Amino acid sequence: MQNRRQFIKTTGKAGMAMATLPILSKMSPSAFSQVNEYTQQPLPYGYTALEPFIDALTMEIHYTKHAAAYAKNLADAVVAEKLDTSTTSLTDLLKNISHYSPKMRNNAGGHYNHELFWQLMKPAPATAPSGALAEAITKAFGSFDAFKTAFGDASKARFGSGWAWLLVKADGSLAVSSTPNQDNPLMDIAETKGSPILGLDVWEHAYYLKYQNKRADYINAWWNLVNWEFVQKKYAEATH
Ligand code: MN
Repeated sequence: MQNRRQFIKTTGKAGMAMATLPILSKMSPSAFSQVNEYTQQPLPYGYTALEPFIDALTMEIHYTKHAAAYAKNLADAVVAEKLDTSTTSLTDLLKNISHYSPKMRNNAGGHYNHELFWQLMKPAPATAPSGALAEAITKAFGSFDAFKTAFGDASKARFGSGWAWLLVKADGSLAVSSTPNQDNPLMDIAETKGSPILGLDVWEHAYYLKYQNKRADYINAWWNLVNWEFVQKKYAEATH
């Protein structure tokens, strides 16, 4: 484990966000979660942690530039559109996103998607899900390998920038989908709606430095990073 100084050094802005935690911790638990949900959180690992599958420079630029910009622009849109974040959760905002501006849609989606994405990865995870999620994947797709093929196909078929998803639909069943830009399955404008439990960023900014135009190679490498324990937790929350 890294010590705090090393963590702050290697995570840059994330370290700064961490430094504000003592102030936030004086607030009530509900205020704490509201503040955090709309704010970029520290990366759960250092920039080099996902090597060799995702290189450190890509992680650093992705987190400190792209994802940070979504969080900042979301904050601007919240002020401009007078959104009360103390009474509206980020999830509820996304579920009603058609009532807001394209700027809110792009940046609320971008912020939510990236905060989820960082947590969906870790170094040296289990290679496959277990328990109820494993059973649900087999039921929905026939096998784990068939699921990976379906998810990979959705990732490759997304024209331009966007995301591939594994989601829990309203009836509790699993589905694979993809969305353009920074949309996601929570949004009322999504073609396939539900709770996302796994998502893959297929914007070129997520892979171009290492993989250039070879999106399929990035997708294949990414399976080595999926934090199935976290996905299982998301599945349990979505089906409780
Ligand atoms: Mn991204």
